[in-house]
Amino acid sequence: MKKLGRRKFNTTLLKGVGGISLAANAPIACAMATNKKENKLGVALVGLGSYSTYQLAPALQNTQYCHLAGIVTGTPSKARLWSQQYDIAQEHIYDYDSFDTIANDDSIDVVYVVLPNSMHAEFCIRAAKAGKHVICEKPMAMNVEECDAILEACENAGVRLGMGYRLHSEPYTQEIQRYVREKTFGNVRYITAEAGYYSASDPQQWRLDKKRSGGGALVNMGVYAIQSIIYGTGENPISVSAQEYSTRPDYFKDTDETITAQFQFKSGAVGNIMTSHNVSANRLKAFCESGWYELDPASTYIPLAGRTSQGVLEFEQESQQQLQMDDFAKHILFDMPNLVPGEMGKRDMIIVEAIYKSIAEGGTTQPLDFAPGYGFASSRY
Ligand code: NAD
Repeated sequence: MKKLGRRKFNTTLLKGVGGISLAANAPIACAMATNKKENKLGVALVGLGSYSTYQLAPALQNTQYCHLAGIVTGTPSKARLWSQQYDIAQEHIYDYDSFDTIANDDSIDVVYVVLPNSMHAEFCIRAAKAGKHVICEKPMAMNVEECDAILEACENAGVRLGMGYRLHSEPYTQEIQRYVREKTFGNVRYITAEAGYYSASDPQQWRLDKKRSGGGALVNMGVYAIQSIIYGTGENPISVSAQEYSTRPDYFKDTDETITAQFQFKSGAVGNIMTSHNVSANRLKAFCESGWYELDPASTYIPLAGRTSQGVLEFEQESQQQLQMDDFAKHILFDMPNLVPGEMGKRDMIIVEAIYKSIAEGGTTQPLDFAPGYGFASSRY
């Protein structure tokens, strides 16, 4: 089975769009865009919870095109700890009230919103108004209306918006995207994706509180399964119908536990997803005209694993978050494609809302009507 090394992929990307070598221009573009630490973009993390602490901050120590330059937290003890650990000066530390003054902080170029879902829209919009590029964690917001507000704020401010969809920068996922592009196994006929874990810890956690999460398994893990069936086919779905199952109603009082949904695609492909806070599952499998491909696990941090009808896949394991943040920085610095535009987050939220509507109506089929390519990398509509 052909291996696609990360180094080779980067070289290909650096050839840029329109045949112009971006690699040759890179140092100039970089120096023009920012004049700070080693010519890297400065990133401020908003919300220092587990994802920022254990994944993003460590990854930002190894990124080539951006670095951790500031933090936004409501907890003074975390501010002190992070300041020492990552050598962040007081003038680059904000709380939720002082956040807007980040507009005057020239060492911050990108604000990465890593808060509970109910706070994504507010902080993405405030970041855009402060003139900072924005990365928004998944799910993009509580509903499609909030997604529109984020998109509009970024558009009005002239800043770039990317989602925290790390897998688009990850080599196993990129290999699946290559099969789709090159039709290595022909057209997809059936695709299935599962994303879930068994939740039994703190019943007070925000993920189980609809006011702060916007939903349960579907918005937390289901977005990975939705993403999988879309990049696994290369198409947006044209309809969805869905079902919800509850086996532990005492624990899942406010949010969905397990959801299944069936999709149709214009090509004739059919898809199915299962997402759950009660079932540990993490897989993508596509059955095509002349073979199949599978990632299992398909969306854990590291390591992913994959097989196809031709053999086993094997790629170098690197930090997905490091690759993701460097890809977004390269989008800003060198105008390279935005692999995870805000429209992608909105598209997924449209699908989430259609799934909840189908369930509320007893499993009705909901039509989905996306413009061709809507929400794919670098799409602009
Ligand atoms: P977390 O609970 O560990 O951290 C949340 C942070 O928000 C904490 O620092 C907390 O103090 C702060 N906060 C501020 N106001 C709060 C409030 N009202 N209620 C609760 N916390 C509040 O969560 P996390 O796992 O770091 O997730 C944060 C975001 O990142 C979520 O949107 C989640 O979906 C996303 N996430 C993405 C990935 C990924 O792989 N892309 C992985 C994990 C989490």
